[in-house]
Amino acid sequence: MTAKSKTTRAKVQKLKKQTKFIFVSGGVISGIGKGITSASIGAILQSRGLKIAPVKVDMYLNQDAGTIRPQEHGEVFVTDDGMETDQDLGHYERFIDRPLNKINYVTTGQIYGEVLRKERAFEYDGEDVEAIPHVTDEIIRRFMLAAKNADIVLVELGGTVGEYQNAIFFEATRIMKLKHPDDILHIHVAYLPVPSYLGEMKSKPVQQSVRMLNSMGIEPDIIVGRAETIIDDKRKERIALFCNVDKKAVFSNPDVKSIYEIPVILEEQNAGDIILEKLKMKPRKRDMKEWRSFVKKIKAVKKDLNIAVVGKYFGTGKFELADSYVSVIESLKHAAWANKHGIKLTWIDSLKVENEGAKKILVGFDGIVVPGGFGKRGTEGMIQTVEYARKNKIPYLGLCYGMQMATIEFARNVAKLKNANTTEVDDETKHPVIHIMPDQEKKLLVRDYGASMRLGSWDCVLRKGSQAESLYKQRRIAERHRHRYEVNNKYRAVLEKAGLVFSGTSPDGKLAEIIELPGHPFFMGSQFHPEYKSRPLRPHPLFFGFMKAVAKGKK
Ligand code: GLN
Repeated sequence: MTAKSKTTRAKVQKLKKQTKFIFVSGGVISGIGKGITSASIGAILQSRGLKIAPVKVDMYLNQDAGTIRPQEHGEVFVTDDGMETDQDLGHYERFIDRPLNKINYVTTGQIYGEVLRKERAFEYDGEDVEAIPHVTDEIIRRFMLAAKNADIVLVELGGTVGEYQNAIFFEATRIMKLKHPDDILHIHVAYLPVPSYLGEMKSKPVQQSVRMLNSMGIEPDIIVGRAETIIDDKRKERIALFCNVDKKAVFSNPDVKSIYEIPVILEEQNAGDIILEKLKMKPRKRDMKEWRSFVKKIKAVKKDLNIAVVGKYFGTGKFELADSYVSVIESLKHAAWANKHGIKLTWIDSLKVENEGAKKILVGFDGIVVPGGFGKRGTEGMIQTVEYARKNKIPYLGLCYGMQMATIEFARNVAKLKNANTTEVDDETKHPVIHIMPDQEKKLLVRDYGASMRLGSWDCVLRKGSQAESLYKQRRIAERHRHRYEVNNKYRAVLEKAGLVFSGTSPDGKLAEIIELPGHPFFMGSQFHPEYKSRPLRPHPLFFGFMKAVAKGKK
């Protein structure tokens, strides 16, 4: 072994003093809210003044979520540093109110990619490169990276226990626990069904899934039981006995109206103190006042505002739509609550608008949102949606593709640029008011698709006196992007002359980032995705302004 490789291995073995690791696994079925449970645990630990570094592990071979179909993957959450990640990172950011980055997102593809790179670079010094220890070492190295400046690293292991493809990650956690028994905690989140014909909550599936963990040499320290209702004492006792955990370390996580209630529900069961105790950490005082009063406020909201989200990623029903636009939905909720209202969201496939007409489909909504999207399908429906909102003075918010569609609608119907379009949809249009960014075109020609869009946080300068400026209350902002196309500067002057205001641009003025229409109750579009930066206690200015206008129109 050369000196270099010795130190690499040594680093992998040595755990930074004081840093603790929590691993969260899931059992019985997927989609039970493991991400929200992890985010909530992060929030209650952070409320004790601890610095939490959440990490999501996705078990696919993709390097990131950027190349996966929205219907398949759900939302792609973009970080400030431009990583295309999983929607759970969005939950972590919203619950612990801290921007994350690429360190916080690990995929099997990244792990194997790095091991293969190292092998080619002779960094293993002629060793026979194997799953164990080389892949597990690389996994542990990645977890360690997140430990920098953190008191606790909170790793959510994607998928459910028992899946072939995640075994190597569980193995890495087993090795860590073996070496540092006092610093590692395993929390298993599993589902307890209540079959309607029995009317009784069943704990057997949880026991089975813990067996599966046991067979990999892992004993969970804490069990979070997800179920429709509260888990009663009798069942907590049974789970404790059969799963070999402390009874007080079995927590109930029932269905709730708002996900933001979960930290409060877990704290009512003393989750934070028990986690610290099991991690051999000193008890710490918590401060959850602000969060509690926020949860109270949500429960006290006045009547619902009716919002239509006209998008394209429906897949097999409304559930997938919700998944594709999680951050948009949460941002709308934050803003509605801050305006003291509830919200009723209706998902509308833009193809439906295209086929049946905007008037029929969109009548009665208090506000309309067109979120991000790619490709041709459904775009005419989006353009008709914009026209309907503009002409009927219904508050409109366009996010990325929704901003581009608004620009096209305005070009066609107000600036009279016949058949104006984006070259993404029609590359022969006479009026390409939206066109591909020059560097993007080069990338597509050589099939450079991975992480190659304009991604991550970019500065934007707001026009003095614009609505954007009055909402942000500042002139320079930074927002997160994910796109390949942009407003064609050749058309800016004619659009502006017809009344469209470009109220936000890149600092050099070259890229149009925000459009708005004066004289309308609210008509705005952003090339960036403001939904990535909205927080429950700090709604995003654009969403806030939109919802304020919606509430005003409702009166
Ligand atoms: N398809 C558009 C583009 O690439 C919009 C992308 C988006 O909505 N995220 O520019």
